Order: sequence, then C-alpha cells, then structure tokens
Amino acid sequence: MLFWDFCFRREPRTLVQQDTLVGSPRGSTFIDATFLPTNTSMKETILIVEDEKDIVKMLDYNLKKEGFKTISTYDGEEALDLATKDRPDLIILDLMLPGIDGLEVCKTLKKENKTASIPIIMLTAKSQETDKIVGLELGADDYVTKPFSPRELIARIKAVLRRAKDKDKLQEILKMGDLVIDLSKIMVSVKNKPIELTAKEFELLKTLIKAKGRVLSRDYLLDTIWGFDNAVEIQTRTVDVHIRTLRRKLKSEAERIITVKNYGYRFKYED
Ligand code: CA
Repeated sequence: MLFWDFCFRREPRTLVQQDTLVGSPRGSTFIDATFLPTNTSMKETILIVEDEKDIVKMLDYNLKKEGFKTISTYDGEEALDLATKDRPDLIILDLMLPGIDGLEVCKTLKKENKTASIPIIMLTAKSQETDKIVGLELGADDYVTKPFSPRELIARIKAVLRRAKDKDKLQEILKMGDLVIDLSKIMVSVKNKPIELTAKEFELLKTLIKAKGRVLSRDYLLDTIWGFDNAVEIQTRTVDVHIRTLRRKLKSEAERIITVKNYGYRFKYED
C-alpha cells in the first residue's frame, strides 16, 4: 500500500502520527489529521506555491480539511498569474522555486495594486535566514521554517487571516474610480454626489465589494442578505431585482457589478 493511500484511508483523528514534521531532511511527509473542518459559509482560498509535490499534497489535504479552498502551483511565474486571476485570501510561498524564485514572486506581488494586499506566508529552509529577512522586508506577513508541522502552519495562516480582516475593518472608506463608500457612515457617492440606497442595497453592495472580486452566487447573496436559505425561483429573482436598482443608482459606476451568467455576481475593482 502506498503511503498516501495509507493516510487517506484513515478516519480523521485516528492518525497515528500527530503534529509531525513536514519537509524534514529525511524527506518524510505525514498528514496531521487532527483538524476538523470548520463551518464557513464562504471558503477562504489559499494559494500554495511550492515545487515539492509531497508538501503540496500534504498542505492541500490539511487545508481542505480545515475548510479552506486551495489552488496550487509548482512554479513562480504561474503563481503570479493565479494570484492576479483568482485573488486568493492568502499565499503560502516557498522561497526555493525553479525559474522565478519566491523572493522575486513576493516582490512582484507586493508591487502590484491588485495583489499587494494578499497576505503571504513564506516557507523557508534553515539555511535561508537572510532570505527570510529580505522576504519580510519585501512585505511578506510571516514565515515558517522547514521542517514544519501542518498544525503550526495552519495556526499561522489563521492568525495572518485574522490580522488581515482586522485591517480590512479599519479601512472603512473604500474608493474605486468615482465610487466612494463609507462603511461606518453607510454612505455611498458617485462623482462626489451622494447616492441613496436602501439597507438591502447597501448590504448587497458591501457584500460584493468585500468578496474582493470573487463571484458570489445568488444563493449565497440571498442567504447572507435576506437570510433565505432555501432559494426558490422567486427569491433568487429578488437578488436580480436589487442588483438592477443598485446598478441604476450607481450610474457611471454601474458596470462594476458584473453578471456571471446562471450563477451570480462579482464586483470589478480594476478600472
Ligand atoms: Ca522548493
């Protein structure tokens, strides 16, 4: 039996090895299955950038178990594409990569407007002390030294995500093109002219914006804003009707709300 088969066939919480080290010099990779999935209505996405396939597999498994969505790549160049396209909530970035190395990836991500706010946790080897410092100076949020335990990395991920959310809360005035939204005063303006929105319209706009470009389904919007959990035809149409009036009120900025056919909506940040 392959080692991976062995791991996957076990029930959660019955794994022999707990909090074992990953990426140790022996090259052994174990799964820490002591984490149970958390119930999040919207999964946070983690981008894994690492060329050691065993580590990617292990991280993918453990993160999914924790309720995260994952995307992964073995190379730096693709990492830049995925970060821009998929806007993950956090990036786990190995420093030693073929082609563009991790530091270069970090530097580019932090320079670009679209990706600058995505938190980065670096994976470093003990011998890369200087790189670690450079990485932090370039704007990485934290680092984990190999070998590491999945438990440790997940704890770091949660802490970094929590910090990012707190930072988001402080950013109460959002500006995109001619659109300005003051979250604390519940005020919206376009070209400096105040726009009157109903409470539901404001919630809808805020929810779309906070999704940072991710597509939100009609069902998700219904559940979050109206609290309908069983979406029927007439209820999903409620979302469409509100989107329509919201677009009308947003005037020149209306096209920031993009329809994703047969699914839902997303908010466009780019100009
Ligand atoms: Ca590597």
